[in-house]
Amino acid sequence: MKEEQSRKRRRGKNKKPQKTQPSLLPKHSTKLHKKTHQQKNPAHQSSSSSLKSSSFLDKMKARLAGGHFRMINEKLYTCTGKEALDYFKEDPEFFDMYHTGYQEQMSHWPELPVNIIIKWLKERSSSLIVADFGCGDARLAKNVKNKVFSIDLVSNDPSVISCDMSNTPLRPSSVDVAVFCLSLMGTNYASYLKEACRVLKPSGWLLIAEVKSRFDPNNGGADPNMFSKAVCEMGFTSALKDFSNKMFVLLYFKKKENQSSNGREIEWPELKPCIYKRR
Ligand code: SAH
Repeated sequence: MKEEQSRKRRRGKNKKPQKTQPSLLPKHSTKLHKKTHQQKNPAHQSSSSSLKSSSFLDKMKARLAGGHFRMINEKLYTCTGKEALDYFKEDPEFFDMYHTGYQEQMSHWPELPVNIIIKWLKERSSSLIVADFGCGDARLAKNVKNKVFSIDLVSNDPSVISCDMSNTPLRPSSVDVAVFCLSLMGTNYASYLKEACRVLKPSGWLLIAEVKSRFDPNNGGADPNMFSKAVCEMGFTSALKDFSNKMFVLLYFKKKENQSSNGREIEWPELKPCIYKRR
């Protein structure tokens, strides 16, 4: 009995959205769902009230899906990459839930950082080899001619390498451009950047796009100069900082030709989670 109670408590602590595929509605709402099917039959209900109830249901579905997205999003920002990998391994459908919500959020952004990176790549030689760390739906790979290693925790597409990006199967000094587009999520984000440094060729590019509020010291965000200093200490030079967009910052670095470490431990600023608002 005690064991059952403590199991329940443990389950409560490790909150996960309920599996509600395909409708994203929780189990207790299936009755409601069935009823609506009946209501759609003109013999049961007038068309105007059926329209009303289906829009009510749509709203409810959207609200639930939004809640699930925000919960998974928060989880990803507050755990390590290894924990995130285990989380999705256990329930791969949470990855789709996350991305449905992510796309919804992105649809409100006037400009997507991934499109700026695509444009940047198109202005350069397509022979540059790219690694897209935290590729999501692999939009980057689909829109450039370059060879792109798309990496994410879950792969729904055979071209995506599924792994924790702190430990990829890429060879050392094998890529020209490493991209992190809104993907520095784990609490151990520095280990993702170290991995990028390992796989980048000398003089290779490191492109980072992050949510602006995470680099806004006036609102609890990290000091972008401290972050940039830490990346440089790892073996990069800062090439460009672009704060012009309202929603995100873009940081461009180049890997130094010669890597020399002074042996001092690098001080990485904490990057606060990006919590999306309820819409
Ligand atoms: N870069 C894409 C997707 C950004 S969403 C775009 O701009 O549209 C962030 C992505 O990073 C998610 O798909 C998430 O699964 C991935 N991610 C977060 N931590 C990761 C890790 N440790 N290893 C691999 N992918 C990770």
